Amino acid sequence: MTGHDENRERAEQDLLFEVNAHVHDAARRFEGVAPEPGHEPWEFTCECGAPGCRVAVSLTLAEYEALRAADSPVLAPGHERRA
Ligand SMILES: [Zn+2]
Repeated sequence: MTGHDENRERAEQDLLFEVNAHVHDAARRFEGVAPEPGHEPWEFTCECGAPGCRVAVSLTLAEYEALRAADSPVLAPGHERRA
């Protein structure tokens, strides 16, 4: 793997991290007015960083927050972070 590809994957991962943070934000605001918060799965995006990977990953807010608390990326089944 060349340095260029690694940089691109890192940039991709940063972008997806931000996208998911926005989903999380919106979901938290939405669930703030929901009758039964915490049970709804939200569509996050796989953060493996592979070029073009935009696989949706359904997670509840609690599941997403657990990943963030553990400093783990959001990953679709079978995907792994390479960088
Ligand atoms: Zn992926």
